[in-house]
Amino acid sequence: MTLAHVLGYPRIGARRELKHALEAYWRGDGDRESLEATGRELRAKHWQAQREAGLDFVTVGDFAFYDQVLDVSIMLGAVPSRFEADDELDRGAVDLDTAFRMARGRAPSGKPAAACEMTKYFDTNYHYLVPELHAGQTFRLASSRLFDEVAEARAAGYPVKAVLTGPLTWLWLGKTHDETCDRLSLLEALLPVYGEILARLAAEGVEWVQLDEPALVQDLPLAWKQAYEAAYNALQSAPVKLLVASYFGGLGDNLQVAVNLPVEGLHIDAVRAPEQLTAVLDNLPAYKVLSVGVIDGRNVWRADLATLRERLANARLRLGERLWLAPSCSLLHVPVDLASETELDAELTSWLAFARQKLDETVTLARLLDGRAGAAERDRVAAATAALDARRASPRLHRPAVAERLSRLGEADLSRANPYPVRAGAQQRFLELPLFPTTTIGSFPQTAEIRATRRAYKSGELSRETYEARMREAIADAVARQEALGLDVLVHGEAERNDMVEYFGEQLEGYAFTRFGWVQSYGSRCVKPPILYGDVTRPAPMTVAWSRYAQSLTERPMKGMLTGPVTMLQWAFVRDDQPRATTCRQIALALRDEVADLEAAGLPIIQIDEPALREGLPLRQAEWQGYLDWAVDSFRLAASVADDATQIHTHMCYSEFNDIIAAIAALDADVITIETSRSHMELLDVFRDFAYPNAIGPGVYDIHSPNVPEVEWMVQLLERAAERIPVERLWVNPDCGLKTRDWPEVEAALERMVDAARELRQRY
Ligand code: GLN
Ligand code: ZN
Repeated sequence: MTLAHVLGYPRIGARRELKHALEAYWRGDGDRESLEATGRELRAKHWQAQREAGLDFVTVGDFAFYDQVLDVSIMLGAVPSRFEADDELDRGAVDLDTAFRMARGRAPSGKPAAACEMTKYFDTNYHYLVPELHAGQTFRLASSRLFDEVAEARAAGYPVKAVLTGPLTWLWLGKTHDETCDRLSLLEALLPVYGEILARLAAEGVEWVQLDEPALVQDLPLAWKQAYEAAYNALQSAPVKLLVASYFGGLGDNLQVAVNLPVEGLHIDAVRAPEQLTAVLDNLPAYKVLSVGVIDGRNVWRADLATLRERLANARLRLGERLWLAPSCSLLHVPVDLASETELDAELTSWLAFARQKLDETVTLARLLDGRAGAAERDRVAAATAALDARRASPRLHRPAVAERLSRLGEADLSRANPYPVRAGAQQRFLELPLFPTTTIGSFPQTAEIRATRRAYKSGELSRETYEARMREAIADAVARQEALGLDVLVHGEAERNDMVEYFGEQLEGYAFTRFGWVQSYGSRCVKPPILYGDVTRPAPMTVAWSRYAQSLTERPMKGMLTGPVTMLQWAFVRDDQPRATTCRQIALALRDEVADLEAAGLPIIQIDEPALREGLPLRQAEWQGYLDWAVDSFRLAASVADDATQIHTHMCYSEFNDIIAAIAALDADVITIETSRSHMELLDVFRDFAYPNAIGPGVYDIHSPNVPEVEWMVQLLERAAERIPVERLWVNPDCGLKTRDWPEVEAALERMVDAARELRQRY
């Protein structure tokens, strides 16, 4: 029998129950016991769903109150000393509030301390807490949560497979602040604790343990490859069977290492890397289980079961009982249940599968391969085939005019009429900006009033006229404040936008929005990515009326504000029936028309934000250039319709440019604003060394902090910037948009920022 399982299930709850329980607990509105009770209820529900669907195991260990990597760090006793409570110092179990303090800096009990760093998990939008490592670190088994959850599932009568991050990926995800400490040197101290964990799981009656090792799909230094073998040799004697899980890509040059690990099973991602199945089959030792991840764990499309069955027939033949089926990765990365979406149209709904539906797909496929499909399974396959045939043929997907327009594009459409120096001259003649021009990144405080107005309009309580009048008031207010502050280039403030992707997606054809399609981003935070299902077109201008109105209120230059094509793609669930590059270019075309319309409406400056450009980088370096080529082309396609005299800005919210500086330069934006205040302008070295040719606005203060920056501090930063970039090409701005801040903070900070710029003008 082909065994069906999942690497993990979403834990947030179909109605974000976990989010609400966590936030109540942190606020002090709920006690520990009710939080734990919510956790138990959700786990019970999720295991029940897995069993009802017919999976052979329930997966235990995928639940976490904040983050599963954090839970493993805690289980290993890797708690930085600034967090340890007194009772933990005498080697007791780490308290849940300690976990929350590691994650958020504070919790209902215990002293606040600087939170651990958080960063994106591989190429997902999920954020994990980075393990803090240091030389000579010791480890100990410091939490029994996993064992308790196993006992919970066993008590409910479920067959259990336990899961936790494997030792090498845990180290790979960690960071040391001490140059002399090599993460890998900690492996030896780490393994005995893993050994203890596995023994405890065996004692709890667990037969299979899944160790997540997605680091295997990245470029690994030789020492790491060798460490894999050594580590799993050491764990080999554990009294459980081990399934090493790779996902998010192909094993590539780690294939031999992975297939030959001395463990009982291997999981591979056959969605991102379908081609590796044959190679793995050819190399897999004869005793080993192969779990093939064939249902897409990273996207929302319904699986083509009939085709998958054919693709897997050979694997079934060769592996027999040693074939397992699963989604490609944990279902953490998709929304919970399509059944909640009562307002999506039936046609679109029939093309989709969320986590709950993917359980059924996995089981159906397993039964199909075994030849034990009953009427229910056969109906499911037929329904999937019919829906997918209909999807392929749907006029909602294909707008021939879009493809036709893309095919007509030539090199000239990707370039501005003239090179930057010529454009800069034309722009300056018109804009007449001082040295060190000041501006902001786009959004101003989203006050409770603004949010309530948007909500009321959306729910139909507020008429369009009233809504628009209120938004115009918010714009006029923002413009007046900016003029009073003396900023040089103004923005309208983005009051009408709740989200920089949703706002545009809602006005473009080809995007759909769900009501409950939440996916955990970090802790209690969720995002609801739109579904990009069809060819993208722009039925009407999207931002022009607001921007034109804003410009009409002032003599100063106003920036039109757009979200770039790569970010519009990256923060959505994207159709899987054509290359992402094609979809991205389609979005770029729609934005290109918006740029042209903004220019025609008299906006002298247009900003195209691309905060997601970097996170789109593939996991393997060999694939970077291919991605960057089409990403850069898409941006240029959107921007280069602008006249020389129209100034194009872009914005990115990060500070790592070392390895993508050539691509950043190739965007050829006239001005790029970036996050720099925290790195003390050192990141501008990259721009200097590359001889970056266009203008830069390095953020001079961190908008994530409520602290109002000192003038002197910003002056110092700008002087450091001026040592690296010619002053004619420097701008002055905050690190990012200001929508999460209050007006008093914003005004105080910007007043000082303008003072700092004036101070600099005296000096140069
Ligand atoms: N223009 C957007 C804003 O100011 C940019 C947000 C972002 O970079 N994430 O909010
Ligand atoms: Zn930003």
